Parts: sequence; C-alpha cells; structure tokens
Amino acid sequence: MSGVTGLHHVTAISGDAQENLDFYAGVMGMRLVKRSVNQDSPGTYHFFYADAEGSPGTDLTFFPWPDLPKGRRGAGITTEVALAVPGGSLSYWRERLTGAGIEVGEPVVRFSEETLLFEDPHGLSVALVATDDPRDSTPWAASPVPPQYQVRGLHVTRLVTRDLTATTQFIMGAMGYVRNAEEDGWHRFAVNGGGSGKWLDLREDREAPRGTWGVGSIHHVAFRVPDDSTELAVRGDIEEFRRQPTPVIDRFWFKSVYFKEPGGALFEIATDGPGFAVDESLETLGETLVLPPWLEPQRAEIEAALPKVRMPVAS
Ligand code: ZN
Repeated sequence: MSGVTGLHHVTAISGDAQENLDFYAGVMGMRLVKRSVNQDSPGTYHFFYADAEGSPGTDLTFFPWPDLPKGRRGAGITTEVALAVPGGSLSYWRERLTGAGIEVGEPVVRFSEETLLFEDPHGLSVALVATDDPRDSTPWAASPVPPQYQVRGLHVTRLVTRDLTATTQFIMGAMGYVRNAEEDGWHRFAVNGGGSGKWLDLREDREAPRGTWGVGSIHHVAFRVPDDSTELAVRGDIEEFRRQPTPVIDRFWFKSVYFKEPGGALFEIATDGPGFAVDESLETLGETLVLPPWLEPQRAEIEAALPKVRMPVAS
C-alpha cells in the first residue's frame, strides 16, 4: 500500500530570473515563499512560488537558467503543469494574462473541467483549471490577484511516455495511482481518492522524440508523502520496481528521494514537513536569500555570483 497523497511540487527551468519573478509573483500573484539556490549548483537561484503559507501541493519552483537552450517537448519528460484556480475565475485570468502580453485562447474542456492554456514568458506550458475541489491553500493578502481568483495549488501534470504499460504498472504498483478516466488519448490516474492535486495524466506516443531539459521545460515532479516513515516505505516500493531511487536527501524544508519512472521522466517523493517556515518567519517568507546550513559558510561568494533581483511592483 502506497502512501503518496498527491502532487508536492513541480520544478521547471526558466529564463531570466527577474522575468520569472515578474511573471509568477507579479502576474500570477503567487507568493515567493522561498528565495534560495539550486543545492546542486549554488550559482543558480531556486525560486519557490506557492500560496501564502507554502502549503505542500501548492508549490511551483524554478531554476532560472537563461543560458540553457530551449527545452524540447517529447517523451520521457513532463510537458505541462496545470494549476487550480477557483471555479468561475477563467474570464478574469484570460483578461489578466492577455493584459500582461501572454497569448491565451478560448477555454477548453478537459475531463469536464474548464481549462485555459498558455505558455509562460519562457515557453513553459501552463494550464489553469477552474475547480471547486477542496484544497489546503491560504490566499496571500499582499498578492496583486484578489483572493477569490488566486491560484490554489498544483492540479495535474501531463507526461508523454513511449510505453504506457510500463509507466502505468509503475505508478499503480509503486505509487498507489489508480485508473480514473480516458479522453483524447490521455489517461487520467488518481491517487488518494483523486480530485485537484491528486491527478496524473499520461499519453502514449511510441514515435515521440525524446524530450530534453532546457528553458521552458519541467525538470521534475514531486509527489507528497506525509512523513519520513511513509517516504521510506514508498522508497522501498520504488526499489522493488528496480527504479534505483536515491537515498533520502535532506532538502531542509522537506526530505526527498529521486528516481526516474520507466519512461525516463524524473520524479521525486517529498515529505510534507517541516515546511518553508522552518528557517524564516511566515510574515517574511521569500524576502531574503535563504541558504541551507551547509552552504551558509559560502554566502558571500554565492550572493555575489547571483543576478540581482527586485520584487515586482504590484499591478
Ligand atoms: Zn524537487
């Protein structure tokens, strides 16, 4: 029995750090809850955008790597992240995004949910899905987006695989997902009873070129586990499928295990706690550069190498 309860965070690669901040904090109105560095490459920022409290399952994070080539969509890479917004809010979002220079079409319906599709300023495919499913999400009072329209968390991710059977057997056997629905070639899987944040969409394309990481691509998707012991149990299940999970890595705000699903996409399981308020007060989350303790001795060099950024002016 698996203990995965839903999506934890999605990490993508963006272009220019300031442009990323301007879009996700300034236009999408998400709260920058953590301003840190890539722990494996501390010359690069790691920005975390979430609800007011950085609740697990609300978190979209970016490594701004403007020097990388553009990523290529294809098999073995998560190609789209969908964010949950309140039911009835898509006309607000369409107008807001259009006003910010983003090309947005008419809403489409996917699995009976109204969905707005667009690319962020660096080419990442984003969907906004109108849903009234209950979410653990706290509106951010200082957001430029009024609380009744704010992003409420990660809704679903989409992944193309060359071998649906292998990926399906793995997510069902090791991660606890079950089949839910099928539409236009997309297979929807549910974990923990399903609902917003507890979906995963897969499509098979045996001929698809291999996707590559780059600007505008998703680097990995992390799935929630409630605590350390559940993480170890799920890690054991992943190992039984011979997916070679890493040891537990302490990311300070949560503990992580990384592995590739059989189609090649990078997945992670991450604990719900201790959370982003472990090293900053809730009131000032994201305002200053936070380093994990083992990088603190190099703070001066790290800060000097990072591009200067400022918070976007509220619009
Ligand atoms: Zn991660």
